[in-house]
Amino acid sequence: MKIVYVLTERGIGSLDRVFTYLYHGEKDTKVGTRVIVPFSNREIVGYVEAVEDTDKTVSEIEEVYGMKLSEVASVLDDEPLLNDELLQLAKQVADYFLAPRITVLQAMLPPSLRPASSTLHAPKIAYEYLVRCVDSNEEGLTDKQIELLRLVKDDGPILKKECGSPSVLKKLLDAKRVEIIKEEKRRYKIEHYEPSNPLPLTYEQKQAYEAVLSSDKDVFLLQGVTGSGKTEVYLHLSSYFMEQGKTILMLVPEISLTPKMVEYFARRFQNNVAILHSGLTQSEKYDEYRRIARGEAKIVVGARSAVFAPLTNIGLIIIDEEHVESYKQDNLPYYHAREVAIMRAKHNGCKLLLGSATPSMETKARAAKGVYGYAKMEKRVHENPLPATTIVDLCRRESFAPGETLYSKKLLESLQNRLEKGEQSMILINRRGYSSYVCCSECGHVFVCPSCQGNLTYHRRDEMLKCHRCGYVQQYPTVCPHCQSKKLMRVGFGTERIVKTLLEHFPNARIARLDSDVSKVRNQVEKTLKEFASGEYDILVGTQMIAKGHDFPNVTLVGVVLADIGLSLPSYRASENTFQLLTQAVGRAGRGNKPGEAIIQTYNPTHYAITLGAKQDYEQFFYRELQMRKVSLYPPYTNLIVVEFSSKSEDRANDMALSVKMDLQSKNLANLTCFGPSTPYLGFIGGMYKKTLVIKAKNMKEIKAYLKETMLALDGQGGVRIHFDVNPLDC
Ligand code: ADP
Ligand code: ZN
Ligand code: ZN
Repeated sequence: MKIVYVLTERGIGSLDRVFTYLYHGEKDTKVGTRVIVPFSNREIVGYVEAVEDTDKTVSEIEEVYGMKLSEVASVLDDEPLLNDELLQLAKQVADYFLAPRITVLQAMLPPSLRPASSTLHAPKIAYEYLVRCVDSNEEGLTDKQIELLRLVKDDGPILKKECGSPSVLKKLLDAKRVEIIKEEKRRYKIEHYEPSNPLPLTYEQKQAYEAVLSSDKDVFLLQGVTGSGKTEVYLHLSSYFMEQGKTILMLVPEISLTPKMVEYFARRFQNNVAILHSGLTQSEKYDEYRRIARGEAKIVVGARSAVFAPLTNIGLIIIDEEHVESYKQDNLPYYHAREVAIMRAKHNGCKLLLGSATPSMETKARAAKGVYGYAKMEKRVHENPLPATTIVDLCRRESFAPGETLYSKKLLESLQNRLEKGEQSMILINRRGYSSYVCCSECGHVFVCPSCQGNLTYHRRDEMLKCHRCGYVQQYPTVCPHCQSKKLMRVGFGTERIVKTLLEHFPNARIARLDSDVSKVRNQVEKTLKEFASGEYDILVGTQMIAKGHDFPNVTLVGVVLADIGLSLPSYRASENTFQLLTQAVGRAGRGNKPGEAIIQTYNPTHYAITLGAKQDYEQFFYRELQMRKVSLYPPYTNLIVVEFSSKSEDRANDMALSVKMDLQSKNLANLTCFGPSTPYLGFIGGMYKKTLVIKAKNMKEIKAYLKETMLALDGQGGVRIHFDVNPLDC
């Protein structure tokens, strides 16, 4: 008999509480496989954490545990789900991000393999049957049989269902000329790409390539302006490591937004490439995952979760556009792919290459300090001039087109001009969760919530301003508290509204829309981007997701409707995000041989994030922002941890947060401050109230140890759950 220790989704009271079961069955219950176990009158899927063989009787064991133990109902997997490196990584990630290990395992595995009850209905391995030649002797065969034998011999194993007459096949099988083999079916076929040859590197690319290879640092930052040809450097480095018999992990922010990168790798490395794609069905994901685990794919291209791809013997990990926020998972286990990649690079003894035109503050600061290796590419491969950029000051009423509250004269004229010339435009709005807000059209004052700093939203029905984060309400004011102007305006900011109002100005324009709503429809993003690239639309309207990485040679105008929305967000990264949005946006205009133009509308025309973003002056921005971070004590000068308390009772969540804060303060830890409790952006979801503490701490080890202990003591008490977000991007 065995005693099996099982991790489940139900562990309350600690990060990784295991439950104990007995197993009398025949099957092998290895560590890292899944089992079905009874749990408070239901059957759930668990993950085997440890196994112990025992000679004791059931009653002896139950006496030791002081309770009745249930029996494992069944064993789901023959082999562990994860190899040793990934098993160890799961522990390391859970430890680093203070996350329940079961949530890490779920983030690591494709849906079908997750240790979660939902996987019971998920697709499993599919097989297909192939016929293979074992003896090509044609003696004694009929012509029909010879025909089939020759086909199988010449074309290699062919699908059984393609062999024609079953009786002819049966004869060949009986005569031991062919045999049937069973293979895992691959449901996903990568589009076939014509092979391409490597381009000879430019001087700068060669310098960067050699710097990466000769660096003694594990992590390397390649900072190259847009168009400097970072991709070609990635490809050359990948070839180099492939030739050494190593594998490559290539991460991109989002597959559907980086079709070019996938294409480059697929062309250069053909069948060696596996693509982990959010557009894959569950069974396709499963098949690709298995193909990587079997060692058939040497290169994996994928988004965030591909950082857990079951590659072995990795030679190089690349994170393209490393500054992009989508590398951080925005729910449990709140991991950041960059941090995980650092762990994997250490384990594999390989290099991690971070690429960006505008690296994150953290990465750039580490490179500047010499912690990371560093190379820079400052020239565009095709020497296109930077687009001419105009900042339109919206505080000046005369900037607007007559009767307009959204568009300046300048932007409308430029759009008109592009339509006449048959060139394309992109219109960007930086929405990020804000559908509408109220601001003063004289001074630009934005009405924010006095308790949580979130933007207030106008509600027509009761003429109130409401905070969707914390529930604060106030009456709709008649004058601006800042300049006493009566000209308040309500700005709705859906992409739909932009499309609608643009159509009022340009009824004949063909306008497409791309935002997170559209991206929920499978393959819709790729489709829209393809259609825009082939000239089926004149204008593409979108959120910041369209600002990244695309190359549309016919786009000569990029307009940012309101650059300020990002700035008014209550986040220490507001300036960084705004700067990045603007540089990316400006970089979109004029990628072809026609000169480009960018127009930025703003109420803060002198803010450094906006002026430097417009100029694409990364270095200046970096040093200004670094100063700000130093003064206000934010990363990279400190670490942040958000502690989230959630409960059906708002008071209980708040009380526990308060008591944790008081306890923490009584410890008098050096270089540590704790703020809150406050209400997060989504303060009430799924019937649960949330309260958060924000901790700033120099010494991560110390505070993490404290938080783990606290968690052990308090999680689940009075129905309050505790979760952590280590290095949050928003707070
Ligand atoms: P980045 O990723 O740095 O913004 P890209 O990798 O998109 O830049 O490269 C910009 C353009 O330059 C692409 O069209 C690419 O094909 C081209 N390119 C890159 N390297 C070379 C090279 N060595 N020779 C010729 N063209 C190149
Ligand atoms: Zn509020
Ligand atoms: Zn005002």
